[in-house]
Amino acid sequence: MVGGFLQQLNPQQLAAATHSAGPVLVVAGPGSGKTRVITHRVAWLLGEGVPPERIIGVTFTKRAAEEMRRRVRDLAGSAADRVWLGTFHHACARLLHESGRRFTIYDRDDQTRTVRAALQDVLGPERSRLVRPAPVVGVIAACKAQGLGPDDLAAVLEQGLPEPGAGYAAARRRLREEAGFEFEAVLAPVFARYQERLGEAGALDFDDLLLETARWLRDLPVARAYADRFLHVLVDEFQDVNAVQYDLVRLWGALTTNITAVGDPDQAIYAWRGADWRVLGRFEADFPHRRLILLEQNYRSTQSILDLADAVIRDSPGHYPRRLWTERGEGVPAQLWAVADPGAEARLVAEEAARLVGEEGFSPRDCVVLYRTNAQSRPFEAALFRHGLPYCVLRRPPFFERAEVKDVLAYLRLAANPRDEAALLRAVAVPRRGVGARSQAAFLAWARQVGASPGEAAAAGRFPPGLGGRAATGLAAFGALLRELAGPLPVAEAVRRVVEGADFPAYLAASGPAEYQSRMDNLAQLAAAAAEFDARDAQGALVAGFLEEAALLSDADVRDLGSEAVTLGTFHAAKGLEFRAVFLTGLEEGYLPHRRSLEEEEWEEADSPARGEERRLFFVGITRAKDRVYLTYCAYRGFEEREPSRYLEQIPSHLLDRCATE
Ligand code: ATP
Ligand code: MG
Repeated sequence: MVGGFLQQLNPQQLAAATHSAGPVLVVAGPGSGKTRVITHRVAWLLGEGVPPERIIGVTFTKRAAEEMRRRVRDLAGSAADRVWLGTFHHACARLLHESGRRFTIYDRDDQTRTVRAALQDVLGPERSRLVRPAPVVGVIAACKAQGLGPDDLAAVLEQGLPEPGAGYAAARRRLREEAGFEFEAVLAPVFARYQERLGEAGALDFDDLLLETARWLRDLPVARAYADRFLHVLVDEFQDVNAVQYDLVRLWGALTTNITAVGDPDQAIYAWRGADWRVLGRFEADFPHRRLILLEQNYRSTQSILDLADAVIRDSPGHYPRRLWTERGEGVPAQLWAVADPGAEARLVAEEAARLVGEEGFSPRDCVVLYRTNAQSRPFEAALFRHGLPYCVLRRPPFFERAEVKDVLAYLRLAANPRDEAALLRAVAVPRRGVGARSQAAFLAWARQVGASPGEAAAAGRFPPGLGGRAATGLAAFGALLRELAGPLPVAEAVRRVVEGADFPAYLAASGPAEYQSRMDNLAQLAAAAAEFDARDAQGALVAGFLEEAALLSDADVRDLGSEAVTLGTFHAAKGLEFRAVFLTGLEEGYLPHRRSLEEEEWEEADSPARGEERRLFFVGITRAKDRVYLTYCAYRGFEEREPSRYLEQIPSHLLDRCATE
């Protein structure tokens, strides 16, 4: 029955889901059905006859978007498949492709390389060595998250305009300490040169994907054509959008102002990436006629979990008092475990998870173990394995970060975009083929001079005349391999051609037998991921599609939703999810709050959106739970003595069941 699904909503949710036109803002706490409003609203719009391809819904991860699509499909059928559902980055990549732009996405590694090159261009080889690229990348990213370019940065530095965000201040201080104060004078030129280099390589970094889309849409003739492209814009987790993402939302909804934004300021956890939860207030100011809907009933958690969450967030900056209530009953109080060390912590968590599964009718997938940093996952993996409990880790596959995998991908990138200099430099050097740094530079300079893209010149066997014999032979072999990658190829086949053509087995054999095995395993995993992509990829996007998917994959995207496994992940990766039992581990000073935020005192500055962020992270973790919460901290990590997190001290004791452990 069409519309029957609306009966699954309470009156406030229903009002939001069936809001007819114009902007609507839903502000509500965790588990109150915000995401449910989005899915039901999309289904309702489809039922009202809105064409699916003119609805865009953005959420935080690709996985969350897939989950949303699945729910909409259950409610509204196959039209769900044509709705634009994805992350900001996916939506922008898709729009730019549609506009005919061809580009490569530069990841953090490529950004670092490009910044290093830009530093050399601006400072010369000697002085550039004094500056680490990482903080420069940080400054650039912080500027871009606010939509600021090199000229704006120059103005910030010269005229003392307000600095853009928490990440910027931290990165700049690091620079000041490492490179000396006068370095700031060259920051803007380095930023400018970095942009030039990206342009030359036909590359966009993550922030550029969003900025370029916004720029393109703002461009008048295009805007006219695109103004009615989307009839409805819906945004989940709105508290975590940054300035550029907010601009995109407004551009997409420029004509109709049919914008649905749902969020919770208490769950803002991305200030370190330039988000600012005060965007909720900005939305209200920009759309004074917006409809505001508050949701108060929580459908997820028991009352004792809500009370615990409330005790943690009560004094948080920006928190406005509200009381979530639930019909789920009082439930069981949270348990607090003080343990000796991470080994004991993992052992107890695994034992308790096994007990929940064995004695209380939980399934492994009802349990999640959360920690602050990915490096904390190991002991839990080992302990769960010993208890025979299957588990999955919410983490971007680590093999994508491995050198040999990036080497192989560099060939694919170069084949997809012959202007990608960073890819050329990486690929031509692995395996060694006699093309040293000087020959590489000569080749690139020559290519620039004759106006050829380096990838095309190499593939065509064109080299600068004066090149040495060995370098010329090496480049010729390299070009021959590139020719083999031309044309539309299944990704798995392209990977095979590179691994065999460049003889990676021989190259990796030089690293010794143990290393050899693990590095070949990484390549095997890459081949498997490629084959899996080929099997799934109906549109034949091939290599370019695979590269884009790999680049945009985040920690939270990697989860097999159907699997019967305990989930392990960081607090950040758990956003939006729910589980019957939640283990919040490593609740120690230095981990939560994390030491990085303790060092950066400006995070606590009165007007910084980052203030209180670690506390909110704790709140997000607790509110994932439906039935059980376990809080654990260690007395020692390695040889270091640990203090329990300050957030634990503030919880009234009647909300906690303190359990002595061995
Ligand atoms: P978070 O802030 O953590 O993202 P949320 O506000 O998005 O939470 P949802 O995930 O949409 O909340 O909903 C939480 C749970 O409550 C889900 O299991 C959802 O199916 C259920 N739920 C929400 N609204 C209702 C309702 N009206 N009737 C029954 N169950 C509901
Ligand atoms: Mg949600």
